[in-house]
Amino acid sequence: MENSKLFSMFIKIIYSLFFINNSSLFIKMISNQFMIQRDTQVLWHPCTQMKDHESIPILPIKKAQGIWLYDFEDNKYLDAISSWWVNLFGHANPIINQALIKQLAELEHVIFSGITHESAIELAEKLIELTPKPLTRCFYADNGASAIEVALKMSFHYWLNQGQPNKKQFVTLENSYHGETLGALAVCNLANFKQTYAPLLMEVLTVPSPEAFSRETGESYADYAQKQFQHLEKLLSEQAETIAAVIVEPLVQCAGKMRMYDPIYLTLLREACDRYQVHLIADEIAVGFGRTGTLFACEQGNISPDFLCLSKGLSGGYLPLSVVLTSENIYQAFYDDYHKLKAFLHSHSYCGNPLACRAGIATLDIFAQHAILQKNQLLISVFASEIERFKYHPNVIEIRQTGMIIAIEFVKNKITKEPFPWQERRGLKIYQYALAKGLLLRPIANVIYFMPPYIIAEAEIKWMVDITWDALNFAVKDE
Ligand SMILES: *Cc1c(COP(=O)(O)O)cnc(C)c1O
Repeated sequence: MENSKLFSMFIKIIYSLFFINNSSLFIKMISNQFMIQRDTQVLWHPCTQMKDHESIPILPIKKAQGIWLYDFEDNKYLDAISSWWVNLFGHANPIINQALIKQLAELEHVIFSGITHESAIELAEKLIELTPKPLTRCFYADNGASAIEVALKMSFHYWLNQGQPNKKQFVTLENSYHGETLGALAVCNLANFKQTYAPLLMEVLTVPSPEAFSRETGESYADYAQKQFQHLEKLLSEQAETIAAVIVEPLVQCAGKMRMYDPIYLTLLREACDRYQVHLIADEIAVGFGRTGTLFACEQGNISPDFLCLSKGLSGGYLPLSVVLTSENIYQAFYDDYHKLKAFLHSHSYCGNPLACRAGIATLDIFAQHAILQKNQLLISVFASEIERFKYHPNVIEIRQTGMIIAIEFVKNKITKEPFPWQERRGLKIYQYALAKGLLLRPIANVIYFMPPYIIAEAEIKWMVDITWDALNFAVKDE
């Protein structure tokens, strides 16, 4: 037997001995370590250089309640990033838990081709009611990237069914992120995710982003967005005949360092897509469900896309689920006699999973019954006043906020705008400092952000911002 296996067996025996004796102190001392040891033997984590965990231990979580995560030694951590932007109303939410227990007793899963069930129907009815008109059809998948694949395929296939097979190119914005399966990755524009796999990806057309970080001093978000839109207008005027769709993340490019832009861009984009006969795909996987202040970000540009992709908050952060909403016009282009072979071809084993849909229904019920969007207005203003102090920090070049998404971008030199070299991993230092204080942050390069569950209390926001202030000061120090 290998040494490591012997070691983990030894730990297991010790662990069970003490567990039986309920000698809690010693268990506490070895529990986190025991999980870490077992993890190291068998797991490979996402978005991670696994070697990092030689020096930065992975965080083992035993349970979660509300906004707090608890490790195996009963230390708690405030989940300031909603467990990767999925959780809306806290962990172990009693309303969602109850809905799931009830659903579990009735139907856990069933094939969704040739069969339907009530939770899929009810969630679709509610989504159609709540999303910007005229979206009338829901197609389920089970994660964000898959929803993007569905939207891309549907758009291309629509034009094919309409006798326009040349419309097969997609337009994406610089700094965009849409998921990491090959089709979704192709419409991303973040080098760190995409560059390595570039030889495997379809080619796309890319235009400059409207995100306002690079605007001139004194230039408004709206002016900058209008100026940046001209690049897209030009591309569409030249190549619309071969373009199927433009894909955007409305208002906030989240994985792209939480960069933000003015809603006027969405309004102009909708108008141009109509004029040039090109689809608009809105990826609201991250920004949907109240993150930007409104239920959907598209509302702020007064638009409805041809395809609306939702996931993450869709199930309240409980279960993998995604959906693509589209219009009746697009649905009808696929609706024909079987032998015409126009049907949309896409499937996942867990399409429309009843448990996931039930979590989605409970989530939407909470929005409706507890006036969440209204209540969030208070949290939004608390955040705005709390982060004000960062404006005057000698390393902070910008603070920005769209609703419940708040970001602080820091640099090495505020005057020359010189960034810290990426190799220095200053964001990681912030992560480590905050975690030691009981706050889970996950900076993206040199951008700290908050995207907490909506159940966060005012006092918790203040506490979180205080620690972040100290964490930043710690991270920008030169050793
Ligand atoms: C997270 C995310 C995705 C991908 O969703 P997964 O469920 O992680 O595949 C796509 N687009 C945006 C904007 C996202 O934030």
